[in-house]
Amino acid sequence: MDKLQELETLLAEVADLAKAEAVLGWDQQTFMPPGGAPARALQSSLLSRLLHEKFTSERVGHLIDDLSAEMADLPYADDTAALLRVLKRDYAKALRLPAAFVGELSHASGLATTAWAQARAANDWHAFEPHLARMLELKQRQAEYIGYTTRQYDALLDDYEPDMPTSQVAKIFDAVRQELVPLVQAIQAETQRVDDAVLHRTYDGAKQWALAHDALRAIGYDFERGRMDHAPHPFCISFSNHDVRVTNRVLPNLFSSCLYSALHEGGHALYEQGSPDKFERTALSGGASLGVHESQSRLWENLVGRSRAFWEFFFPKFKKTFRKNAADMDAEKMYRAVNKAQPSFIRVEADEVTYSLHIMLRFEAENLLLENKLRVSELPTWWDEAMSSYLGITPPDVARGALQDVHWSMGLYGYFPTYSLGTFFSAQLFEQARKELGDLDAQFARGDFQTLRAWLQTKIYQHGRKFTLNELALQITGEPLQTRSYLAYLKKKYSELYGL
Ligand code: ZN
Repeated sequence: MDKLQELETLLAEVADLAKAEAVLGWDQQTFMPPGGAPARALQSSLLSRLLHEKFTSERVGHLIDDLSAEMADLPYADDTAALLRVLKRDYAKALRLPAAFVGELSHASGLATTAWAQARAANDWHAFEPHLARMLELKQRQAEYIGYTTRQYDALLDDYEPDMPTSQVAKIFDAVRQELVPLVQAIQAETQRVDDAVLHRTYDGAKQWALAHDALRAIGYDFERGRMDHAPHPFCISFSNHDVRVTNRVLPNLFSSCLYSALHEGGHALYEQGSPDKFERTALSGGASLGVHESQSRLWENLVGRSRAFWEFFFPKFKKTFRKNAADMDAEKMYRAVNKAQPSFIRVEADEVTYSLHIMLRFEAENLLLENKLRVSELPTWWDEAMSSYLGITPPDVARGALQDVHWSMGLYGYFPTYSLGTFFSAQLFEQARKELGDLDAQFARGDFQTLRAWLQTKIYQHGRKFTLNELALQITGEPLQTRSYLAYLKKKYSELYGL
């Protein structure tokens, strides 16, 4: 058997193990009864150990090295060249972490996640503090194992956003923050101009679910290759490009939650369903990075779903389903309601304007903590001061402050920035799509989302993991990631909404 074929066969089994583990995880978060947890933890950890062993075998390493040398002349964009490039990166990182350390990390994060849930419920920072300190110390060690040139954060960020230096993120965030803070203040002075009371009326759950299905179908999510199930937190998960699932939840007194979660997770799902067959069971299947993935979810949720044109298309469906709640509404009023912006304590509830300020705060905190410039015990006070200076509000308690996110207890440091990087990239992409695709608003208003989706298929989905965010940005728009498009979009939209 030739070497490439041998490598592909070995890695196809690694991919199958990863997908099998994903099925177990999906079941755990949707249908598994609580009693299943201990056995499931054993089953999942066995699969992840087998996967790690299979992937880090010496044979795999030799094959990657030999093939990389033999195929060094292939063009950068060639599928095999890209596969070897991605594998080399994944393999080196997997090898650098000692198995004992991986076990230690997973054990500590299990304890920390449970402690976090209890501490948040009890509004008790001190109960969580030792766990956060422990996780921080482990992540510092992880950064040392992985290696970095200038900052520890580079090593951690690279897990989620390959080849994106911390310095680029810091520069982008500083520039955006200077524009966002005054915009938030201006909006707050005019807050009564947008009325979102309609979203807080009572909405039947089954009918909300049906509307979310309609929205998913409209944007092109394929229910022959996917399904939507109930879960406490909405997410998207892929078992292959022909089985990409989303989850959602219904809040009876917040209409926007189920619909916009469907569009958000639907955006992730279109990307996964669009991953080409030729990449299945290889390291190139799926999305390029968390940031690129988030650009797809935000694009459908906000740039499409929170547009005036979308509501011209969707309002008749909304009215037919919720005749009483819609009686005093029209498309324009719904458009305004779903775009109300106001500072709030909880990141996941934040609107388009304030969202990135929540992210910047976390990015700064992570860097200060990692570099030992901020002690874990000082974090809640630091957090409250940062919230006050960015958003003009102070959390009433630590549960709505420094304790609100699960990420740090799970060991996810360097993850938060990808939410904002994706948001910025979504606007950059959308601006380009407008240039190339003619009148997108007219298309959306008549329910045509196919033109945009086909464009994304060509520009993004078909490449799988071949290129990084900056490479894709350059190919598609002629420049690396920029925030000009995002700021222009926000300012235009919200100046008009709030009469600024
Ligand atoms: Zn997302």
